[in-house]
Amino acid sequence: MKGNLIILTSPSGGGKGTLILHLMSMNIGIGYSVSYTTRKMREGEINGRDYFFVTDEDFKTRIANNEFLEYATVHGNYYGTSKALVDSHIAEGKDVILEIDVQGAKIVLKKMPQAVSIFIMPPSFEALSYRLTTRATETSEQLSLRLNNSFDEVREYEDFEYVVINDEIDSATKRLESIILAERQKRVRQMDAIKDILNSFNASKQRITGENKIGNGQKRRSKY
Ligand code: 5GP
Repeated sequence: MKGNLIILTSPSGGGKGTLILHLMSMNIGIGYSVSYTTRKMREGEINGRDYFFVTDEDFKTRIANNEFLEYATVHGNYYGTSKALVDSHIAEGKDVILEIDVQGAKIVLKKMPQAVSIFIMPPSFEALSYRLTTRATETSEQLSLRLNNSFDEVREYEDFEYVVINDEIDSATKRLESIILAERQKRVRQMDAIKDILNSFNASKQRITGENKIGNGQKRRSKY
């Protein structure tokens, strides 16, 4: 069975990074799609784990080679999702999670409307501002750009199927997990497994009752 594509988006500082870390530690079979970016590496970040940190030139070559499922300029830097990485997780049968901005999320949803889309809503502007300020990873200019962008970004929740209010990390992680687990139980997402089960019933029915159902619902007696 193929995995689901899960799009997680929020304004910058919405706390989706921390939520994903908690979610990944639950080991529920989710792959994370590491994005490409041209932004500078922050202290503590690791190339290939947090992002693939590349130059502008490298990023543009990848755009020209059509390597991205989506890409966008976010707060002045390029960010993009690798098609190959996403495909490899999904082919392995794992759900794959994309942690991307609202513009990128909308591009992916247009291309892949079957994706599960989740908007992480900060509980208030103050909470978002506090998160961005205390993590101290941005210059004051970058910080005000991100805060300013959040006014528009937070209104974009309407385009997403689920909204998780990130008020308390453990509870928000549980709600996120429950969405992902419930999505796996959807009938349409389990058709391959269901067909195999029905085949086993059909085979046994013929053996045990001598009956086998034909296309229009009529029953036919087997001669054996
Ligand atoms: P940060 O610089 O704080 O790591 O990320 C800034 C914003 O870029 C966040 O909202 C993050 O979700 C978004 N982002 C990260 N990777 C991608 C990506 O591959 N595509 C898009 N469109 N946005 C991304």
